[in-house]
Amino acid sequence: IVYVNRTVFHFSAFHPAEYARTLSDITDNEQIISSVHACVLTKSSQSYDLDSAENDGKIYSISVTPVSGEWIADGAILIITDVTHFRQAERIRREFFANASHELKTPITAILGFSELLGAGLVDDMEKVYEYVGRIQKQARNMSNIINDILRLSSLEEKKEPQTPVLLNLRQICTEAAAVLTTEAQKKNVTIHVDGKDTYIDAQREDIWQLVLNLLDNAVKYNVEGGRVDLITYPEGDHAVLIVKDTGIGIPAPDLPRVFERFYRVDKGRSRAVGGTGLGLSIVKHIVARYKGELSLQSKLGVGTEFTIRFHRAAASKKDT
Ligand code: ADP
Repeated sequence: IVYVNRTVFHFSAFHPAEYARTLSDITDNEQIISSVHACVLTKSSQSYDLDSAENDGKIYSISVTPVSGEWIADGAILIITDVTHFRQAERIRREFFANASHELKTPITAILGFSELLGAGLVDDMEKVYEYVGRIQKQARNMSNIINDILRLSSLEEKKEPQTPVLLNLRQICTEAAAVLTTEAQKKNVTIHVDGKDTYIDAQREDIWQLVLNLLDNAVKYNVEGGRVDLITYPEGDHAVLIVKDTGIGIPAPDLPRVFERFYRVDKGRSRAVGGTGLGLSIVKHIVARYKGELSLQSKLGVGTEFTIRFHRAAASKKDT
């Protein structure tokens, strides 16, 4: 070893040695040692990722390049980079594409199937024709929902900071969202109640509208006949609190930590039947993170679910109360 910088010793594959003369003084990793030898012998560059299982789950990218100059003859430069976050992001992106394609395939297959049946002129019964057209429309709506949610997620990820925050009253947004979903709720005899105090935050209106709508939509969708939804807002110290509470089917305890993941659903069939995309809560999580808020979830199977979100209160509203 001609030169080694201290940063190398932060990587678990390396250990400091008082006199580091050879590579094997500072690492036992066979893959590294043999790639450096191969590089020196063949004068060809090598690059690869080190197996993460051996490095506390960290992924290191190794690059070995041959060098030859006045100060060193037939040498090699070894560069180690921690690419854990990078590789994880790549994996998440790959999984997302696979999931999104899979999710879109289901409605497309149904649309093709029903339209081929109708196109072949084999369905005489008008009742059946209407039924199939209805199914095509429902599947097309599902696809449209999935694509809209994907676009929303990608724009949330792109613009980390809110663009033009304005002073918003959470309570007022709850009242408006409740009005939009009243018809849907009435179909199941679910009642929506808005309660609490005027509660102000600085935010982009469409973000908060989307957040409240997604939570309320779920509270209605996963409710029971004759159930109830409560939207409660109140200021608390420096915080603005929003609670969305329902008397619905609840979420099983083992699923609780996973419901914010993209495309995760407790019951796929049920979610699809009610027009769910599996993306609603991950959009909620992104929006809360964008405003550096806190999100918590409590749920009991067969009893109901309660989401609590704490935002930073708008500075302009603090002096009023
Ligand atoms: P979806 O579009 O399927 O509703 P979400 O991301 O909004 O997707 O929610 C993920 C899953 O969490 C849902 O499929 C459902 O199983 C569960 N879930 C969300 N909200 C509720 C709720 N209020 N009550 C019961 N289950 C819920």
